[in-house]
Amino acid sequence: MPGFEIFGAEERKQVNDVLETGVLMRYGFDSMRNNHWKAKEFEIAFAKKMKADHCQLVSSGTAALTVALAAAGIGAGDEVIMPTFTFVASFESILALGAVPILVDIDDTLTLNPQAVEAAITSKTKCVMPVHMCGSMANLKALKVICDTHNLILLEDACQAIGGTYEGKPLGSYGDLGCFSFDYVKTITCGEGGAVLTNNEKFALHADYYQDHGHDHVGSDRGAESHPYMGYNFRISELNAAVGLAQLEKLDNILQKQKENYTIIREVLQTIDEVTFRSVPEGGEENYSFLSFYLPTAELAQKVHKALSNSGIDACFYWFTNNWHYINGWEHLRNLKSLSNLPAEVKSQMQDLNNTDFSKSDAIMSRTISSLIKIGWDKKQVGQRAEAMKMAITSVL
Ligand SMILES: *Cc1c(COP(=O)(O)O)cnc(C)c1O
Repeated sequence: MPGFEIFGAEERKQVNDVLETGVLMRYGFDSMRNNHWKAKEFEIAFAKKMKADHCQLVSSGTAALTVALAAAGIGAGDEVIMPTFTFVASFESILALGAVPILVDIDDTLTLNPQAVEAAITSKTKCVMPVHMCGSMANLKALKVICDTHNLILLEDACQAIGGTYEGKPLGSYGDLGCFSFDYVKTITCGEGGAVLTNNEKFALHADYYQDHGHDHVGSDRGAESHPYMGYNFRISELNAAVGLAQLEKLDNILQKQKENYTIIREVLQTIDEVTFRSVPEGGEENYSFLSFYLPTAELAQKVHKALSNSGIDACFYWFTNNWHYINGWEHLRNLKSLSNLPAEVKSQMQDLNNTDFSKSDAIMSRTISSLIKIGWDKKQVGQRAEAMKMAITSVL
């Protein structure tokens, strides 16, 4: 996920357009802004690129998830099904709205297990939130059938999988809503930023209102606008949007380079009998930002992870004990440690996460290692990395 690897003259030019006028806000100041509307321009370009009808740019990926949930009318006591392997933003956004995160197992796609989703549905369930971790996707077809059957919203978190596709559709455009992050370590970056995609006109309008204090953005006098609903401030600034515009132009090249580098490493690792790879649902194509593979046992995976690190091979992750991405590390969530009193619905409906059986997730995560794929590596470096990885892995087998 290398947006920061390629910050250059194009980004500086876009930001300078904004600095020259000094209009750092995305709305208003029409006569001062020399016709620069970076956020609007980005939204149009991104919606087109992602084959969606509407894009709403916001201040982060976490904001995107929050705005998407709010736009779909999800609030107090509504249950949102999410995976055990994800970024903390999944439950943060759900809890921010007074809704209830319900955690369920993943399968060997490293994303939501559709059977576990179905088993977790109650009369309070409103939304299913697959998270396309590490560049590849959930079984969206199976999840869509479940959502259609039970009248649930399908909200894709595509923050780590921009540019991947499923049945020919860009990830993030398949569900009712899709969310992206452009934080500093994502495939393309705005510094900080995020986006919500949808083909649903009502959700698009609601997202537009919600991310800017409920403003309806009708007319050109901000002070005179009406406010159909209460909102919040999740706006992106023109400076951040300007960076994103330049990065979006580079997305195709990034994806191509990731695919090349991923393929070189995969071809070497697949000569090792004990190594298998995450499964990609039929009809899906990854964005190749990570190469994730399995060892036969947890013990071997831990040894391999140590051997990789001892060999000086950077950017290999063992998520099972990494405190950001897997439930093992979320002690604060498991014990509901919050700064303030939580809504009664959250307290009464949350699972007892310290005593919920996630052995199916454990059986997969404890054997998983992911290598980040950088685009700055040249062919020789990737080849060397692949061979060094193979040596480290085989040394402990
Ligand atoms: C990065 C990320 C987010 C949150 O994005 P921010 O822009 O950092 O708030 C949400 N979900 C996933 C899967 C992510 O990787």
